[in-house]
Formats: sequence, structure tokens, C-alpha cells
Amino acid sequence: MAKKTKEKFVPHEMIYREGDVGDCAYLIVRGGVSLFIVKDDIEVPLATLSEGDIFGDVSLVLGENRHTCARAIGETQVIYVNRELLNERIDDADPVVRLLLKSLHNRMSMPDNALGSLSLPVLLTNVFATDKQAAIKRMDLESRVAVALTNKEFVPFYQPIYDLKTCKIRGCEALLRWISSEGDVIPPLLFIEILEQSSLVLRAGRQVIEKCLEDLNHLQTVAEMPHDFFVSINVSGRQFSDPDFVEHLEFHRQRLNLNAKQIKLEVTERVMMVGPEALNTMNKCRLHGYQLAIDDFGTGFSSLQYLATMPLTDLKIDRSFVANMLSHRKSKSIIRSLIHMGHLLGLQVIAEGIETAEEFALLQKLGVEMGQGYMFCKPLPLAQFLKLNSQSVQKAAA
Ligand code: C2E
Ligand code: CA
Ligand code: CA
Repeated sequence: MAKKTKEKFVPHEMIYREGDVGDCAYLIVRGGVSLFIVKDDIEVPLATLSEGDIFGDVSLVLGENRHTCARAIGETQVIYVNRELLNERIDDADPVVRLLLKSLHNRMSMPDNALGSLSLPVLLTNVFATDKQAAIKRMDLESRVAVALTNKEFVPFYQPIYDLKTCKIRGCEALLRWISSEGDVIPPLLFIEILEQSSLVLRAGRQVIEKCLEDLNHLQTVAEMPHDFFVSINVSGRQFSDPDFVEHLEFHRQRLNLNAKQIKLEVTERVMMVGPEALNTMNKCRLHGYQLAIDDFGTGFSSLQYLATMPLTDLKIDRSFVANMLSHRKSKSIIRSLIHMGHLLGLQVIAEGIETAEEFALLQKLGVEMGQGYMFCKPLPLAQFLKLNSQSVQKAAA
């Protein structure tokens, strides 16, 4: 069953009482909450909170039982913020913010705290002018993504990758889609950042790997794809710093009796920023025979040093360069240099986002080995990908 991340309360329903375990905070999405204490059987009101306010955070931060009672005022909906989520956010926060939180925590822990009558939420409200609507939207999306992950609503679509000389399919790239419970297909632009900024990306990444390997096995056995047909999987930096990454990959590869050469892992240069363990994982992957492609090279804060350090097999040219190369002389020069550099380093070059016959012809002329793009085919669900055959590909490229 999906983990509960949201809850509705009817008017006057108690959310928690003084003395209850304080293992989560709450963000009010709709309605209002009254905070009070009970003294000599009389309720003493402390605060009335509304949409966008957080409560229950003091117990969560201090690890203590509830010091107050909380009751819904009208129909009220809240999102839980648990300790894991809070710790993750604190870990990811700017060091100055972390220091500030630590100092607040220390002062709050003192018996006669130096904050006097100010409570932590009030103080934070005064210090930071937070955008409540943005916070609600963000938390709501995060909780929906977490539930969707549990319900296995994320599925890879496959975009074929062609040999630019023969126009035959050489492999495919797995591109994640969220198929909502209403059947809508949601692109990664709307959820990948949420996944990548939390540990959810580890669960999602594992699901993607398991599904892609099963699909590769299916393509091999049912569609009889050639033995060197590959599937390219996007892997985030966080996944590469997971100490069990290679073990998990190897377990499923061996279970399905696949050749590691048929699995290409796509990483961006950002992977180098997660620390030395990422490079370790990359080297381990190469030792097992997996292919490793650098994706989006040249679009971020690239360092040429990365190209020399990472154990790469492929270099992918980002579609932003391809899209501009016919109209911008500089983009064409960049592509030319990237191809040259890739080849000097012994890498295969794959171009992304080929939309027109002119782009295809120029990339072919420049010696790019492989390519993908809407001119050939959009990313497809597995069932449709199975129907593709090399003849239709040749027609598209003609
Ligand atoms: P990317 O890895 O650079 O993927 C290429 C993107 O270009 C894909 O967008 C693809 O659908 C799109 N594309 C391909 N050919 C064309 C074309 O001819 N024209 C245009 N305009 N676009 C084209 P998509 O599927 O929306 O994916 C966006 C990004 O999401 C990916 O960029 C990748 O960074 C990320 N992503 C997708 N799946 C995963 C995943 O399983 N894990 C992780 N960590 N990231 C993923
Ligand atoms: Ca990619
Ligand atoms: Ca790209």
C-alpha cells in the first residue's frame, strides 16, 4: 500500500494532543489549525494557523513529545514532513542556513531558552519571508511523486538510436515517463528535479534499471534484436554514490543473463561533483563491461579534465548544439570540435535531437557514428518500440 503522506481532518478533529510522540511536522494545504494547551481542564489558545503554515516542527526538531494540542478548525488537509525528509533538506541546505538551524536548536534546547517567549516557527517566519504557495506546491508534488513511485507509475519509454551510416537501429535510450492514475503521460521536466533532489531518486533509479533490463531481455528474446543491441539508461550522480549501485545492477543483469556491453549508462558531468565514490563506481562498472556515455557535455560547468578522468566509452552531443548548428556558425564549430575531441579520446559519438534531413546529413558528414531524434522517431512505450523495424528506419532517413 502507498505510504500515507497527506491527510484530511474534519472540523474540530484532533490532530495531536500534548504528550503524543512528535515524529513529524505538518504543512497546512487547506483549512486551518488551532494550537492550544490544557491548563486545569481549560483550553488556553496559543495560535491559529492557516494555509501554508507549518506546525509540530518544534517536537520534530527537538525530538520531544508534543508540548501543545492541535485541532482542525474547518475541513483541513495537511502534508506530513517526517524526520527523514527534514534531515535530507537540512543536509542539502546552504551551510549558513544549517549553522543557523543548529544554533536555534541549541538555544531551544536550553532549559531557560534565550529566545524568551518566541517560538521557533514564529521566529523563522520573521527571519525568512517564505513563499507559502510555492512551498505548498512543492510539498504536494513531492508527496504525489513518492506515492507514484510506490504505485510503479514511472515507466521508461524508448527512443531508438541509429547508426548514421547504415540507418539501422543500434540501440535505444530509456526516457522516463510518469503515467498518472488518470492515464496522462507526464514528461521528466515536471518531476525529475523532485526525484533527483531527494533520496527518492535511488528508489526510482532501481525501478528504472530493473524495468530496462527486463525490457532488454524481452527485446532480445521476443523481438530477436541483434546481440549487440544496447539500452542506454540515464543515471544520476546520487545513484553513482550509492555503494550498492553496482551490486544491484549486476544482480539483475546476471539474473536475466544479459551481456554488460549491451547496457550503456548515461551520466552528466555533474556526477563528478558528488565526490570520489562516483568515479569509483564508474570504474567498477567499466570493469564489469558496462558502457559509459557522457551526456549533455558542454552544457554545464564542464571541465575538459573530466573527459580525461572518467572511464568513458561514448560522448553524446546535446540537442541544443544540434538545434543551432545550421543557423549558428559557432554551434557548428563546437560540434566539430566535440566530435574531433571524442574521436581523439577513442569515444563513439552520438548526436541527440536530430530533427531534419539537413542536420542528419551534416552530422553524418562530420563522422558522427550514431544519432537519435524526432526525424527518426520519438520515445515510444515498449509495445510500440517492438513494432519498429529497420526497413521503416531506412525509409525515414532516405
Ligand atoms: P536527455 O538525457 O538529454 O534526453 C534527451 C531528451 O531530448 C529527451 O527528453 C528526449 O525525448 C528529447 N529528444 C529526443 N529527440 C529529440 C528531438 O529531435 N527534438 C527534441 N526537441 N527533443 C528530443 P525527455 O524524455 O523529456 O527527457 C528529459 C531529460 O530527463 C533527459 O534529458 C534526462 O536528463 C532526464 N531523464 C529522462 N529519463 C531519466 C531517467 O530515467 N533517469 C534520470 N536520472 N534522468 C532521466
Ligand atoms: Ca540522456
Ligand atoms: Ca541532452
